[in-house]
Amino acid sequence: MPYTRSDWDAAKAALNAIEEKRKALLKPTDADYETALNKLDEIEEDLPDAIGRCEGCDTPIFESDPHYKYRDDVTVCSECAPTLSSILADYQQALSLRNPDYESFGCSSLEEFKREAEACRRDLEENGDRKLLTSYVEAG
Ligand SMILES: [Zn+2]
Repeated sequence: MPYTRSDWDAAKAALNAIEEKRKALLKPTDADYETALNKLDEIEEDLPDAIGRCEGCDTPIFESDPHYKYRDDVTVCSECAPTLSSILADYQQALSLRNPDYESFGCSSLEEFKREAEACRRDLEENGDRKLLTSYVEAG
């Protein structure tokens, strides 16, 4: 038998009652949470060695941290860094389109884009898959 509007009303009321209980349980931690959050904000605003933030998870990236910088300057942390195979998949996806958007890959021509894709494919074939960190792009 299908549910009715009153089934939904009852389930929603039960959920709301639990949410109120959850809020009450969290309440005693509000002040400490606020203090910890403010401290983190204060530190993050004044990190001289941070070269940026991960576009994936918002973690500050320090100069000495392994990271990956896409050719369009988007930077991600080592956790969020792409693998070579995922980059190749992005190239192949773009190349399957009638008008590949090579500029979004930081290339100035379709020929350069195809060369990059081929270099990526050869690298994967010769060296295997791996997370891409800073050195890959600088070497490329
Ligand atoms: Zn990240």
